[in-house]
Amino acid sequence: MAQHTPYMGRLNIKRLMSAALILAAGLMAAPPAHSADQAASGDLSATVLMYHRFDDSRYPSTNTSMQDFRAHIEVLKSLNRPILPLTDIVKALDGEGEIPRGAVAITIDDAYLSVFENAWPYLRDNNIPFTLFVATEPVAQGQPNYMTPGQLREIAAHSEVSIANHGHTHNSLAFMDVEAIEAEIQTAEGLLTQWLGSTPPRLFAFPYGEAGSTALDIVDEYGFQAAFGQHSGSIGVDQNRSYLPRFPLSGNYAGEDRLREALSTLPFPHENFSPAGAAVVSGNPPAFIEFTLKAPLTPERLNCFSGGKRLALKADGQHVRIAFPSNASPPRWRMNCTHPAPNSRWHWLGWQTALEAKSRE
Ligand SMILES: [Zn+2]
Repeated sequence: MAQHTPYMGRLNIKRLMSAALILAAGLMAAPPAHSADQAASGDLSATVLMYHRFDDSRYPSTNTSMQDFRAHIEVLKSLNRPILPLTDIVKALDGEGEIPRGAVAITIDDAYLSVFENAWPYLRDNNIPFTLFVATEPVAQGQPNYMTPGQLREIAAHSEVSIANHGHTHNSLAFMDVEAIEAEIQTAEGLLTQWLGSTPPRLFAFPYGEAGSTALDIVDEYGFQAAFGQHSGSIGVDQNRSYLPRFPLSGNYAGEDRLREALSTLPFPHENFSPAGAAVVSGNPPAFIEFTLKAPLTPERLNCFSGGKRLALKADGQHVRIAFPSNASPPRWRMNCTHPAPNSRWHWLGWQTALEAKSRE
């Protein structure tokens, strides 16, 4: 999953070639707008959008009205941001095939009935590719408000759709042991294969976006090409493929402005992120969140926020330290860091950690 080395050479050659082309075009000419982004972010970036329910106002925080959803698609069209199957984007990240710049993928979690009833006819009629991440237990139990295996089969028959693993029970994997995590993955894989007649694509979405280091390792061992959390940000070639970001566009974040903000983001060049796993056990939280910025990012232009409040940063050269808040409370804590980029864009780093409730200890 994290095989970066084979295509680093290709990237460097591409960069050299584009530098040579700019030289050939004349040193006096300003480089075209996109080459500034390209130099800043690597050759490829893509944005993955996340949805749950459509026109189901009973659950406002995970709902997106079809009116808003249609508006999202119109915004993407007007900005020439192509919607591609997530599998194509992941392959391109791995150096297989090309995707257009600024590609976008649509993901929908949980297989709610409102997806089938309200969004599916529109997605189908407009040939819009999407990936549905399905937790299999509620479907297997025939729970109300969930799609049936027959409905999953009906949408899976469409070439623009892929149906992928979201665990079985939909419990958070953050604090599960190895056996329990393996059972989640294998059970869901078995049921999806049985229902759909073929093995699902090697994509995974962590329930609640939560993953501890054990879950991250197992997803990697199982050969998933990519796994997704629910922290926000765009995807670049250098990122850890076992925990990729997505932008939620539901509830208070379903407006066009939020989509435009998401589309303005670029990957956030950094290394040495600590804590390495995404889960923190209560009673033993990290003292600091730390990472090292890579060029062109500088600490002076960096801002980090949590819950709408700016976090205090300490920088030592390119190395940044943020004190982990002692009052962070379960079940999870989120942070977003932004750094301005050319053309009114933002390098964006989202991070989420699961916090174990005291009662679980
Ligand atoms: Zn889910």
